Amino acid sequence: SVRVRFCPSPTGNPHVGLVRTALFNWAFARHHGGTLVFRIEDTDAARDSEESYAQLLDSMRWLGLDWDEGPEVGGPHEPYRQSQRMDIYRDVADKLLAGGYAYPCYCTTEELEQRRDAARAAGRPSGYDGHCRDLSDGRKAAYEAEGRQHIVRFRMPDEPITFTDLVRGELTFTPDNVPDYGIVRANGAPLYTLVNPVDDALMEITHVLRGEDLLSSTPRQIALYGALRELGVAKGVPAFGHLPYVMGEGNKKLSKRDPQSSLNLYRERGFLPDGLLNYLSLLGWSFSADQDIFTMDEMVAAFEIRAVNANPARFDLKKAEAINADHIRQLDVKAFTEACAPWLAAPHAPWAPERFDQGAFDALAPLAQTRVTVLSDITANIDFLFLDEPVRDDASWAKAMKGDAAGLLTTVREKLAESAWEAEPLKEAVLAAGEQHGLKLGKAQAPLRVAVTGRTVGLPLFESLEVLGRDRTLARVDAALA
Ligand code: GLU
Repeated sequence: SVRVRFCPSPTGNPHVGLVRTALFNWAFARHHGGTLVFRIEDTDAARDSEESYAQLLDSMRWLGLDWDEGPEVGGPHEPYRQSQRMDIYRDVADKLLAGGYAYPCYCTTEELEQRRDAARAAGRPSGYDGHCRDLSDGRKAAYEAEGRQHIVRFRMPDEPITFTDLVRGELTFTPDNVPDYGIVRANGAPLYTLVNPVDDALMEITHVLRGEDLLSSTPRQIALYGALRELGVAKGVPAFGHLPYVMGEGNKKLSKRDPQSSLNLYRERGFLPDGLLNYLSLLGWSFSADQDIFTMDEMVAAFEIRAVNANPARFDLKKAEAINADHIRQLDVKAFTEACAPWLAAPHAPWAPERFDQGAFDALAPLAQTRVTVLSDITANIDFLFLDEPVRDDASWAKAMKGDAAGLLTTVREKLAESAWEAEPLKEAVLAAGEQHGLKLGKAQAPLRVAVTGRTVGLPLFESLEVLGRDRTLARVDAALA
């Protein structure tokens, strides 16, 4: 059965590229009724942090990407944090050395650089030249006696390596392009190059789906699998599929450091998890030619790794927002009002907490639901209900109050004061006031909107006035005229 893994390193904040990788693995596992293994690759003590680890778990939970084995849920291959598996790696490294699949390499950094430069100058391949491949025991002893340290280097086969990438088709790497590589540091610390395929083997991973940036690791890992199989550590070799790069602004690879790529940003702005996942699933994949809004259940049912496109995908914030807005509109009203809750309280809400009135909010929520792109938009749409005075944006104010706005607003006030306090008669009142000034509804209501909400755009005005109430509305108009 299908077993895939999501195996981030806990460094920094989760970013959208990482989420896309998690999503595709999750969808693949769910589509095939398989298992998603969540593994933490925390072998780099200098860069890894507990804070980042906690954030990874929290992000996956928030997104709703559940895992079948891994931290907090356990599983038959515990532990799922590589920092707790060091004995395993040491043992495998020893076996690789003993079997001659790997060897100690005593070359110093300076020596390696010198020979690399010389090879470049002569137009020869500049990767590791195999200097320590076949050292005699005497030579090794001499190096040790000199006080040299050694890394452990994996011996690559001398033949090309060919495999069929699930996304890219058949790929071949020649030995010149894939020289022998380090798997254990001089201080004994195992490297990604070793621990990642060893765990994939031990955890019986069947499909490795990961970013294109890791494509160059694949021939090395396939070669290492060959050794692991002979040693009885691996049962088979997984299939590999490399997901396309994600390009950001200016057609440059979206980088972790790009503010646009931070998952927390989307969360704080009030993307719905499913809205964000829907968008991210389109980075390299498509649901159908004429539909790009869908649920995660629909995605799982439709997801095929072979349908992933090898070409770079472009990250398009506007499209992400439009898709999110669609997901917001599809919520039932109750789910929408509940989802808004964080943005109706500190630190997002600018009003005093006791001023918040759930009934007033609920009355306008359906109108807001069709207008917000992200949930954080809700705050500015309804703040006029709960602030003592509306926010006053001077530019909007100046724009709405030019010409004979005061005269118009005075007429509007008279008509409103006589009106029944419901949206429809309120609209009639403003229409009538406008008529007196030779203005259509749009122009006639502009100063009123600014006086009452502080803004030039917002929710439908007359419903807003109805909820705000007669006294507060008229008081705000008076304040504007004063
Ligand atoms: N820990 C690696 C990373 O974060 C995993 C790469 C892989 O999927 O093999 O890049």
